[in-house]
Amino acid sequence: MCLRCYEFNRRSLLVGGGVAAASLSTGIAQARIRPQEMQSLIGPGYRPTERDEIGLWQQMARVEEEIAGSNLLIKDPEIIRYLQNLIGTVGGPAAKDMRIYLARIPDFNAVMFPSGFTIIFSGLLLRMRNEAQLSGVIAHESGHFLRRHMIRSWRDMRRKTDLFAIGAMVAGVAGGAAGVNTGDITQLAQLGTILSLLRYSRVMEAEADAMGVRLLAENGYPPIEMAYTWEQLIGELNASARHRRKRRDRRVGLFETHPSPESRMTDLRLSAREMTLPGRNYDSRRGRYLQAIGPIRKMLLDDQVKLNDPGASQYLIETLARDGWNGLLRFYEAEVWRLRNRQGDDLRAAQGYAIAVAYPDAPPEAWRWHGLSLMKAGRRAEARVALSRYLSMQPNAADAPFIRQMIS
Ligand SMILES: [Zn+2]
Repeated sequence: MCLRCYEFNRRSLLVGGGVAAASLSTGIAQARIRPQEMQSLIGPGYRPTERDEIGLWQQMARVEEEIAGSNLLIKDPEIIRYLQNLIGTVGGPAAKDMRIYLARIPDFNAVMFPSGFTIIFSGLLLRMRNEAQLSGVIAHESGHFLRRHMIRSWRDMRRKTDLFAIGAMVAGVAGGAAGVNTGDITQLAQLGTILSLLRYSRVMEAEADAMGVRLLAENGYPPIEMAYTWEQLIGELNASARHRRKRRDRRVGLFETHPSPESRMTDLRLSAREMTLPGRNYDSRRGRYLQAIGPIRKMLLDDQVKLNDPGASQYLIETLARDGWNGLLRFYEAEVWRLRNRQGDDLRAAQGYAIAVAYPDAPPEAWRWHGLSLMKAGRRAEARVALSRYLSMQPNAADAPFIRQMIS
């Protein structure tokens, strides 16, 4: 459950989180948990036998049904098959039992539910630079399931928290799951409620990290990639905060009670070193990853820049560009400034579009905005050429009649 592991949530996805907030943090520094110590507590085909866990699973079956039918999901069959294949690889003994869903939510997050299904947020796919990084997150989530963290945290919370409040949350979740509420916003709020039921202690996060490193290494991925993921996240948080001239931790509530990202990164590095065998060949499978998410990468970038978090978006684009610039990244780099819309940003965006269209894979929108910028600058002849190019690429665009009129 990684609302507690990765959350960057800037839009209050969490509702009802206050109830659980008091429950699990101890504030005591823990020694690192070593990957070798991490054994799965469940085997293949695990089913609960105790009454409270059976009840939780029944509840979750309804939640899963609701989520599976949600219009927040990206249902591209090839991508889903790809993700299912990854969890089927790094999921340890439960690999074949777990289900995976992809939600179109532009945040870095992933969540494991108590009955063994997981939701990956689309914002996660944008940030991963190779399959090893994505598999690392999935392995971490699997670790929560394999170590039975949900039922342990559920029992812990029940001991410590007002039973009435828990009852109200469960009723809310079950009500939503039974289809009483509809619509994306309700679904998000509902998801937030479910997530708030299951907060993990720092020990559980450390266990999931250690298990994740182990599963990654055992499947031939470089285990150090999990630490790189954190390094990037820290960079993004800092870039976003710098841009807003705010302290980082004011935005990310979870780090108040959790091990800092820096300490997790340090532990992940040490664990990766332990799990790396000399002479063994590790492969991050970057090509396979890029191919798999290729069809939705534009959408992922689009969703990200529309958050209008310029510091984070710019950092992300530059991070992805370390593997090579292309027309798509250059276009969205320009979009960051157009959408920020401060003084001088129009010129900055115009320069960006001009750079983007120099790449053979520039998207049609790059030509569109390049043309419009030229038009605005009074360079009509060049503008016509660019806009004609846009129309030839996108003859049926909604704004095609308008653009045609403009250049005639
Ligand atoms: Zn976690």
